[in-house]
Amino acid sequence: MSRTLSPELRRALGERIRYYRELGIHDFYRREPIPGAQAEPAPVAFIQPEQREEMSPRKAAVAVPVVSEESIFEVIASKPEYGVADPVKALKMIREDLGDCTRCRLHKQGRKQIVFGVGNPKTELMFIGEAPGADEDQQGEPFVGRAGQLLNNMIKAMGLEREQVYIANIIKCRPPNNRTPERDECETCSPFLMRQIAVIRPKVIVALGAVAAKSLLAINDSMANLRGRWYDFRPAGARSSDPNWTSAKLAVTYHPAFLLRDPRQKKEAWKDLQRVMKELGLKPPAKAAE
Ligand code: SF4
Repeated sequence: MSRTLSPELRRALGERIRYYRELGIHDFYRREPIPGAQAEPAPVAFIQPEQREEMSPRKAAVAVPVVSEESIFEVIASKPEYGVADPVKALKMIREDLGDCTRCRLHKQGRKQIVFGVGNPKTELMFIGEAPGADEDQQGEPFVGRAGQLLNNMIKAMGLEREQVYIANIIKCRPPNNRTPERDECETCSPFLMRQIAVIRPKVIVALGAVAAKSLLAINDSMANLRGRWYDFRPAGARSSDPNWTSAKLAVTYHPAFLLRDPRQKKEAWKDLQRVMKELGLKPPAKAAE
């Protein structure tokens, strides 16, 4: 028998499914109620919490279609920017909606300012990193320190300027001591990023580093497995004003900060970027190609 779920319950179910997927659980079944028994309890996970750490990460298939959990339930709550065709205006509305955000603990752990995102709102190419660092927190712009300089060089090598792409992070406030963002912080903050993506409607998204890739794709896997393939990415819970845009192609490469620590991997990152360039029909400037 079908029944209508409340928006809160649907969102909670979507979050729970995402959580199970991070644990490597992808298949669910529904228990039939036992006649005369009490109301059915919440779905039972196939493993107990103490077993989670021992699970080997689920290997991604050759092509991994990423489906928005909320699309399963067709729940997309109305947002101020919906129906606004101009991406500049729509991004401003998202920024206003974010406000002086206190939605997660990071607002009281030493952030100087929110780092919303920067670049061309009409771009075909977005880069998404993990979180602001000290320089970004200071300047209010993503990727402005040494890693930012390297990202600029990577963008230049693709035959583009920084101003031609859009750059953002999974979370918008600097975690203390640049620690890795917690899962709940990512889940609280990333809906705003999803809305930014839906407004910008990029053709290609490049996830910079494992944290960004795993958070965007809800796949727990090694960088070696995550790189080198395309993913169909739909921003969960966000709606684009363009009905013709439903998803972006997503590629994974190394975070520039990692490349600073291990420059030998730059060649691998360049291979990733070349695949992106091919997809976008970009040609590198003569000097950039190695
Ligand atoms: S990280 Fe995101 S959700 Fe958390 S306080 Fe900052 S803007 Fe808000």
